[in-house]
Amino acid sequence: MFYDSLIFEISTKDRVGYSLPISPFAKHEFAEQLLRSTKAMLPQVSELEAVRHYTNVSTKNFGVEKGFYPLGSCTMKYNPKINQDIAGMSGFNLHPYQQTSSVQGVLEIYYETQRILSELSGLDTFSLNPYAGAHGELVGLMIMKKYHLDRKDFKRTKIIVPDSAHGTNPASASVAGFTSVEVKSNLDGTVNLKDLKDVLNDEIAGIMLTNPNTTGIFEKDILEISRLVHEAGGLLYYDGANLNPILGLARPGDMGFDIMHINLHKTFSTPHGGGGPGSGPVGVAKHLVKYLPSPVVKQKDSVYYIEDQNDTSIGQVTHFYGNIGVVIKAYTYLLTVGKENMANIGRYSVLNANYIKESLKSDYLLPIKGICKHEFVFDGLIDKSHHVTTLDVAKRLLDYDVHPPTIYFPLVFKESLMIEPTEAESKATIDNFIQVMKTVAEEARTNPDLVKGAPYNTVVKRLDEAKAARNPIVKYRDLL
Ligand SMILES: *Cc1c(COP(=O)(O)O)cnc(C)c1O
Repeated sequence: MFYDSLIFEISTKDRVGYSLPISPFAKHEFAEQLLRSTKAMLPQVSELEAVRHYTNVSTKNFGVEKGFYPLGSCTMKYNPKINQDIAGMSGFNLHPYQQTSSVQGVLEIYYETQRILSELSGLDTFSLNPYAGAHGELVGLMIMKKYHLDRKDFKRTKIIVPDSAHGTNPASASVAGFTSVEVKSNLDGTVNLKDLKDVLNDEIAGIMLTNPNTTGIFEKDILEISRLVHEAGGLLYYDGANLNPILGLARPGDMGFDIMHINLHKTFSTPHGGGGPGSGPVGVAKHLVKYLPSPVVKQKDSVYYIEDQNDTSIGQVTHFYGNIGVVIKAYTYLLTVGKENMANIGRYSVLNANYIKESLKSDYLLPIKGICKHEFVFDGLIDKSHHVTTLDVAKRLLDYDVHPPTIYFPLVFKESLMIEPTEAESKATIDNFIQVMKTVAEEARTNPDLVKGAPYNTVVKRLDEAKAARNPIVKYRDLL
């Protein structure tokens, strides 16, 4: 079909789709060796063809602005347009080498964002430098390492990670030079205290946890876990990629955590996906502040300034200050919601998750009963006699304009289907999702082949996923 063509396929030689303004600068000749020897292979289309092409391509993707996106363990909430408007204001068009006296406004935003994150988390100070959640984890673990080394405690080379943890946790531990020790979870994903005690010793640098955990269950023994780990000389790291369920209601600092990261591109509504840009600020308790990466924004007598902590810190982890635009968007969101409404994010996201869970538990297998927080896991359909899998259900949802939930994670259940609705969704949207999920369950009983063959309404149908992973075609030349 014409509109399914790649832009190279509709390219016609010598067609021009751009017009450049007259440059106000003097013509600059490049040295011969800097010029390319062959012309770049660029599609040649008119402006209208280019516009149509990209508009069509954009509607082939599924995004949070197109339909409901209930991805578990990866908060996918709406990104309010005002965030974008504010971040795009011309006053924020700055150069990183500008004198601090000329960028007081953006430094104030940094300072205030650091302060609000501290207040929300109960940790003393934040650095907004890291570029993503996983980057924040790495920074946090480097701080943990430096803390132990400074105390001449050289034996601590191991990090405890529960088996239900996000995959980035053990990966970050490894990149930071630690080995991870896995502790088995209880059936509800909470830490088994007996197993924890068994692995605690003077080689443990710390533990990485998220609370509520990946299955949406609040770790009720968190104070006891914190006491045990601290008594053994370790530190507690909180994976705060998704802070929705506790926002304004509970604080990692009060639970005993020493270090955490927060994903601004999840909880604080900045764009997420396609590789970023993101921001994963790291917060620490008082005794670790000196290790935070440079630079840190400080304030004295209403003047904001940059302090490099080069003598004590783990060093610099980003170019300049990190992703400033993302911080501005998150700050806008924080002010839009306001302190008095912050806890409603927690309340509504938890209410929405429980409403869906209770409405669907007669069709889908609920392995962990009771109240969940912002997300929960089904273990596939209850009626497995027709062999309709979680993958089949996920594909069929696409036909109803619903993005599939996270599937086959966490690994503790065979047919995991993990749902996180976020606070941003209306009851009508959620009721529609429940209806769609029930329809698919009914189809699985009455016409299982229909579900197994899905999707039918999407641009591409069921893919050979193994082949796509092993033999990916990611650029035009590979097709030729
Ligand atoms: C998303 C996520 C991460 C990683 O964050 P990135 O910004 O994708 O690197 C870590 N832990 C949890 C629980 C997450 O949901």
